[in-house]
Amino acid sequence: MKQMLVQYKYYETIKDQLSPILKEWESGNYKSLLFHIYSGILEEKLLNDIAKEIAGIFPDAALAGTISAGEIGYARLMERGVLISAMLFESTQIQKLVYDNVKGNESDIGPKIRGDIEKIDEAKAVELLLPGTEFNTRIILEEMSKMDSSIRVFGGYAGGHSMSVGEHYVFDKDGLTDNKIFAICYAGKDFHIDVDKSVGWRTLGHPFTVTKADENRLIEIDHMPAVEVYEKYLRIQRNKNFAEDTFEFPLIAKVEDDELLRHTIAVEEDGTLDLAGYVTEGMKIYLCYGDPSLIVQKVNERINAVRKFKPQAILLYSCSVRKSFWEKYVDMEMTPFGKMAVTAGFHTWGEVKRNPDTDAVLEYNITLLSIAMREGEPPKEDLPKLTIDDSVLEGQASLIKRLTQLVAATTTELQVAYRDLALLNDKLVVLSNYDALTGLNNRRHFEEILRDIMKKARAEEKPVSMIMTDIDYFKNVNDTFGHLVGDEVLKEFAKLLQEFIDEIPGAIVGRWGGEEFFAALPGVDEKGILEYGEKLRKTAEQYKYNATNGKLTISVGVITTDGNAKYEDIINKVDNCLYDAKVEGRNCVVQYKE
Ligand code: GH3
Ligand code: MG
Ligand code: MG
Repeated sequence: MKQMLVQYKYYETIKDQLSPILKEWESGNYKSLLFHIYSGILEEKLLNDIAKEIAGIFPDAALAGTISAGEIGYARLMERGVLISAMLFESTQIQKLVYDNVKGNESDIGPKIRGDIEKIDEAKAVELLLPGTEFNTRIILEEMSKMDSSIRVFGGYAGGHSMSVGEHYVFDKDGLTDNKIFAICYAGKDFHIDVDKSVGWRTLGHPFTVTKADENRLIEIDHMPAVEVYEKYLRIQRNKNFAEDTFEFPLIAKVEDDELLRHTIAVEEDGTLDLAGYVTEGMKIYLCYGDPSLIVQKVNERINAVRKFKPQAILLYSCSVRKSFWEKYVDMEMTPFGKMAVTAGFHTWGEVKRNPDTDAVLEYNITLLSIAMREGEPPKEDLPKLTIDDSVLEGQASLIKRLTQLVAATTTELQVAYRDLALLNDKLVVLSNYDALTGLNNRRHFEEILRDIMKKARAEEKPVSMIMTDIDYFKNVNDTFGHLVGDEVLKEFAKLLQEFIDEIPGAIVGRWGGEEFFAALPGVDEKGILEYGEKLRKTAEQYKYNATNGKLTISVGVITTDGNAKYEDIINKVDNCLYDAKVEGRNCVVQYKE
């Protein structure tokens, strides 16, 4: 295969500009032809005319155009022009599929794309060109995740230079639109593709949790309006420059083994952030920042992988944020690709890629997506080793480098401390809720749960029954065997009680204190609780303790109430029943009667 580029100059001379491509195409060596047009000029008529001109000269070619925030030709940024790429394939079949009327029909379009692609013989890759942020692409991409694992997916979101005016359009000879998706299928036995992303942004500070979100709208972080993360930690003001002010500190979500970066397009009045990609509730997110050395390292790794792949053509779909980040150095991370094969592409409003490990087709931000293509087996000879020439960064960026280093080091320390704190917190929860000796709910926690149970009983108008029990003559155990054996006996009894309670749906048990225990049995009525109380008494009576090789009895008080009863009242009443059971000679059950 072969990629040829034309940088559009004047409409009058476009035929001449295209003639080398025509000559190549007419050589008869090629089976199919794919045109990409990446345009930084948003002039509907001009783009339409160019597309029509190409369609006239190459009636069999596929053509897909996208508005771009920067065109990449020969691995360099060419701004605010029109870049035409022609890909000529010897054996690969190219099919351009167009999905119209996407808005509101996302859940139908996904299965349609998937079905169409799966019908194509030897489909190896699908390229998606999407017109930006207007519709719910997540639903579509999720459906594409179900395609056969062997099919790669890559693509980009259209969008112009202005952060506030989206200009999210794709186009072809039928015109400019923000309501169509182009899916280009690359099929053929000899077609090989290698797609990956490079990032290099580092997390900053401790993790937050997304507590409220709706697709691309991030509403709350840690139960606070999302904007507060920027206001509090970075002192970024809520105004119309918000997107520009925050682009250097996007958000990063960790999902499984992948990272999704998200930058903000706008802030709403209530503090909701409009992001250039979706987020979901429960996601852990961090603020992050671009670290030039890490970016260079990551892209270098990718350059090396592409070098081994031995491409015949390369596409770079790079987030427009990277362009803003690098400013005049933006070519630095792209030029090595151009030394391996003719390289074209554009600066996007989002990148699409399939994760080869999970099969998930995801939307990314702030990545440099490099798509290497080849037909047939790779040539034997290796390509020379290549790395990014970042010498320009040396002198002037040394302060930034040091600061970055400082931030990275303190962030790592903070994150380790934060993680330890979270673990400690989990332990504290256990300590504060459960009795250390028996592992049962302690009284404080039990009372907490009990209040919920009462509330639910009230709402459902159902009874709640309770058991209070105390081991008879337990003091004798301590006196005879010692306190440590007494502890063992309590543990055994707690286990016995827990097992008994586990058999009763919804029931809970706790240690009330000393050798006194309490259980709540929602939904159990007066008749039922008397039976349970009696059953428990018998179970305890029959049990032989390992610690003493002896038996013990228990006294039991039981009560039934509805959810309206006063909590303290019930406790008193059932406690009195237990006292009565002791007075009546122990090893018996006393039920509360009005
Ligand atoms: P009865 O309830 O039948 O009236 O007699 P009793 O001997 O069980 O009652 P009493 O309340 O007089 O004694 C309870 C004993 O339980 C006293 C206390 O030392 C012991 N005890 C309370 N908590 C623990 C504990 O955690 N471990 C041990 N080993 N003993 C405990
Ligand atoms: Mg006792
Ligand atoms: Mg007691």
